[in-house]
Amino acid sequence: MGKVIIKVSPKNQPPDGFDKIQPTLKKFEERLKILQDEEFNPSRPKNELYWDIHRIDHQKNRYIYSLYYQRKLIDKPLYLWLVKHKFINNELISKWRKQGYENLCCLQCIGETVCVCRVPKSVRKTNKDFKCIKCGCKGCASSD
Ligand SMILES: [Zn+2]
Ligand SMILES: [Zn+2]
Repeated sequence: MGKVIIKVSPKNQPPDGFDKIQPTLKKFEERLKILQDEEFNPSRPKNELYWDIHRIDHQKNRYIYSLYYQRKLIDKPLYLWLVKHKFINNELISKWRKQGYENLCCLQCIGETVCVCRVPKSVRKTNKDFKCIKCGCKGCASSD
């Protein structure tokens, strides 16, 4: 059998700096993949599984957010490339830059009805073990 040659057009090649973040991104992707495979495990409670997936996905987006906006260690072409190739969720990351949304857990929780996890701990009337039913968030108001 002949060798399979995969042609990478220059347009699809990752921009400079990708090699530096690739090992960390890969770890996130691997953890997500393992969790996604567990969807077919009947003994795994579905909402718990979703919470775990959400947590890793959140950490992955937070990692890039921090590198790009806070520590300024990656540049715009790389950031846009990561968005284009769906490594990160630009909509969620953009929210974190807005006042009051700095700690937002996920876009689901600011949908048509705003989730209880968005209510500041000081005014929320729930027990201290509260976890949002949608994503497992323990509270994501900016004042928390
Ligand atoms: Zn939340
Ligand atoms: Zn929530």
